[in-house]
Amino acid sequence: MKRLLCAFACCVNFTGILSAAQVEHLTPPRLAEKFVKEKVTCIRPGREGFFHIAVEKKRTQLIIHDYGHGGSGWTLVFGSVNRAIRLFEAALRQYTEFHGKPIRVLGAGAHGQLAAILLQKKGYKVRLTASSFADLTSHKGAGIFAPGPVELSAEERKVFEEVLVESYEVWKTVVAGTHSFLRKGGAAMPLYLGEGTDSGLQSLVLRGLIPAPEQVQVSFGNGKRHPFTKIHSIFMDTRMIMEQMEQTCHALGIPREEKQIQHFSDFSEFIVFDCAGVGGGALNQDSKVVPVQGHLLTLQDQPVEQLRYMVYAKIHTNKPVVDDFGHPVEDYVYFTPKGGGTVGGSYIKGEGRLTTNQAQFQRILERSQAFFGRAD
Ligand SMILES: Cc1cc2nc3c(=O)[nH]c(=O)nc-3n(C[C@H](O)[C@H](O)[C@H](O)COP(=O)(O)OP(=O)(O)OC[C@H]3O[C@@H](n4cnc5c(N)ncnc54)[C@H](O)[C@@H]3O)c2cc1C
Repeated sequence: MKRLLCAFACCVNFTGILSAAQVEHLTPPRLAEKFVKEKVTCIRPGREGFFHIAVEKKRTQLIIHDYGHGGSGWTLVFGSVNRAIRLFEAALRQYTEFHGKPIRVLGAGAHGQLAAILLQKKGYKVRLTASSFADLTSHKGAGIFAPGPVELSAEERKVFEEVLVESYEVWKTVVAGTHSFLRKGGAAMPLYLGEGTDSGLQSLVLRGLIPAPEQVQVSFGNGKRHPFTKIHSIFMDTRMIMEQMEQTCHALGIPREEKQIQHFSDFSEFIVFDCAGVGGGALNQDSKVVPVQGHLLTLQDQPVEQLRYMVYAKIHTNKPVVDDFGHPVEDYVYFTPKGGGTVGGSYIKGEGRLTTNQAQFQRILERSQAFFGRAD
């Protein structure tokens, strides 16, 4: 109790007003209409409950699945792909008929490109196929290292945390510039979480890998102030990392082919890495896969040196919001420094098209303006 009183006295002065020490001053992004550069729509590869990383023996083929990472596919990419490769190599010990056989990697997003690179570096013969190589969800992701909240069984949590911790350890090498082929595109940065917004990073805190979060007040210097939980995180410049992965695939001589497939048996290879993102749903008749549409605005002419922080704040409303088609809309305020500044975002579960819900851009701009206030 004594310790509690002391902590309270440290935070609040005798008039009950938060002391200056608790207030952090941040520069807000410039959010007038003229600072909007691009409107970006993309589809998160959601999966009810949990991503799917598993090996399946399907007639004559060995299929290694790694899809369904929703809004945290970048956060979890290294641990997920490494886990998929470990499961594959364990399966090779059981199914010796696959020894020495070439591998087809399906999907050119973060997971497919990374799998192709790591497998080729291990000495396997790899080819990469995707229906598209450009402007994928992986290029568009906002870049916050945070897996978000997940409800899992104890067994699933064990896998999830193993993947998260392993990913974090590799991301640290990207930040330090010591990763073997990703030399830039990661930066340690504070993440400011809005009230009731879960980063999913608590297990890294409990393991002593990142410091405990702090409660802070942030002032944007224009009358706008918010209480936040501030936590150590990483900004992942997703477009920059994709470019380096593409260059590495090229340098390693990994052949690529642009083609939509309907079945894994469309491939002549006996081993297929399935990194199809949301496409994993149709290919596997996996009814747990659900597209989750998202919208972001990229900004221009920003004071970029002062915008070295990230915000992730869920907007809580009393009345449910639905899109033009009746899908539930979850509104967030995001900010990341990506591409000179990016604000977002929407979560529209069940909507998988890239052209719908254009009104979300105006909603994002208005709520971001209300949240951050006016900038000079
Ligand atoms: C608005 C938004 C913000 C995000 N922000 C973050 C963030 O801050 N942090 C974070 O960790 N994550 C974030 N994400 C999520 C992250 O971007 C994704 O989880 C990740 O990029 C998924 O990568 P992937 O390789 O699994 O899939 P994708 O990048 O979608 O790639 C899938 C590939 O599979 C191919 N494919 C699919 N089906 C077929 C088929 N039948 N035949 C041939 N090819 C096929 C596609 O052409 C594509 O090449 C965000 C996503 C969105 C939409």
